[in-house]
Amino acid sequence: MIIDCLAVGPFATNCYIVGSEETKQGIIIDPGDDAAAILGRVADLGLDIKMLVLTHGHIDHVGALKAVKEATDAEMAIHADDAKSLRGLRGVLQSIIVPGLFYPLPPPPERLLRDGDSLDVGGLHFEVLHTPGHTPGGICLLGEGVVFSGDTLFNYGIGRTDLPGGSYHRLVESIRSRLLTLPDDTVVYPGHGPETTIGAERAGNPFLS
Ligand SMILES: [Zn+2]
Ligand SMILES: [Zn+2]
Repeated sequence: MIIDCLAVGPFATNCYIVGSEETKQGIIIDPGDDAAAILGRVADLGLDIKMLVLTHGHIDHVGALKAVKEATDAEMAIHADDAKSLRGLRGVLQSIIVPGLFYPLPPPPERLLRDGDSLDVGGLHFEVLHTPGHTPGGICLLGEGVVFSGDTLFNYGIGRTDLPGGSYHRLVESIRSRLLTLPDDTVVYPGHGPETTIGAERAGNPFLS
């Protein structure tokens, strides 16, 4: 499996380009900013992007969505509970818009995700884990021995819960019940910062001890 990461935008959001070496088909997770860089990397990798998956609806994860959607015509997917915030870029999103920055409104999502949904692209298989707490519709994508954790779980950190719709209790419960139950060697690719593993987080994450 190809996993490529670009840190994009003022929040250094991790945009992941994930694909199959065999079929050359793939997905983009959280196209947060800098569509040109993302699309350039996709071209370098020779991937045909079939799906754009958002771990949640915050602006720093969706800023390049419109341009990337137009360039790839890939199906756009987000959890149903975050679709509303995405549609209007209001509410949750407004509170973290950086003054002076403007992102074009993304198109409406074509696929609304639910817990347990399967995403099958180009021979790769992922399962949707609904992990509310950072936002009501936050998800992690689990498959192929890795989990893309969005702003739910970071390397020795967890997502902030002070934004509208956030809940510290729900976030910690999501992490404990859906992520810490995974095998130790599961590699975690978070929405910001370096990768980690479930084992390292279970042993050393100060928010989960
Ligand atoms: Zn976020
Ligand atoms: Zn973020």
